[in-house]
Amino acid sequence: MIVVSDLTKSYDGDVPAIKGISLGIAKGEFAVLFGPSGVGKSTLLRCLNYLVVPTSGKVMVDDQHLGDLTTSELLRLRSHIGMIFQEFNLINRMSVLVNVMCGRLHELGVLRALTYTFSRQHHEAAVHALRRAGLHDAELYNRRADTLSGGQKQRVAIARMLIQEPKVILADEPVASLDVKNQHMIMDLVRNIASRDGITVVMSMHHLDLAKQYASRIIGLSDGTVAFDGPPETLSDEVINRVFKIVDDKVVGVEDGQS
Ligand code: ADP
Repeated sequence: MIVVSDLTKSYDGDVPAIKGISLGIAKGEFAVLFGPSGVGKSTLLRCLNYLVVPTSGKVMVDDQHLGDLTTSELLRLRSHIGMIFQEFNLINRMSVLVNVMCGRLHELGVLRALTYTFSRQHHEAAVHALRRAGLHDAELYNRRADTLSGGQKQRVAIARMLIQEPKVILADEPVASLDVKNQHMIMDLVRNIASRDGITVVMSMHHLDLAKQYASRIIGLSDGTVAFDGPPETLSDEVINRVFKIVDDKVVGVEDGQS
């Protein structure tokens, strides 16, 4: 589903954030990009839908080279790549329903998009997606997004992604702002949705236990390169100690770990 070849990204000609990464991710895999802050997880993740344009190298998603696509072809491909973020990225002043329907904003003409004028079908699809994301209480649907709890906000963000009928889910530290109970609820939800629909998941994360529990594959990054790549059961304590520094289940940089 995803093929990355010799991918490099330097911001403003600076030291590369990722350095010549090559890997393939098969349909239905649940891959976690693991590593401490600053090693390039987010950069790699965002290169997978060209939110960040690589400096060199290639990204192929669903047999399409992203670098070869026109803007409209890229937008069409992106409409089937769902994205969830640590800070949920909802429109605070808008209702839950409108936020979810925004997953299909690209289907509206400019005028309707500017005024968030969705169709009855969009409305029905949003309710369906909210129920799949575990939000069954219809009273919530017309509430402003900023009145919800963190766990509810991430469920709304997942519903917004589901309405896109994604082939790929890119998740950038999606549970880092949540308490432990909600972390597991969101991880369970993403795993269940992905395995039921055969969706490929690539998720950045720095919690070791969660990564081992939910991922089918862990791609450990260190200083912009792949330091480990394999199923969680092969991530031995020896590798963890050699490559990563873990404190309280979180991977930290060596300097952080020593402080
Ligand atoms: P991670 O997700 O592992 O924390 P990032 O991909 O966010 O790592 O960052 C990797 C490196 O790239 C860091 O040194 C970071 O400061 C730098 N970086 C990330 N985004 C930008 C940006 N928009 N402009 C300049 N440098 C950036």
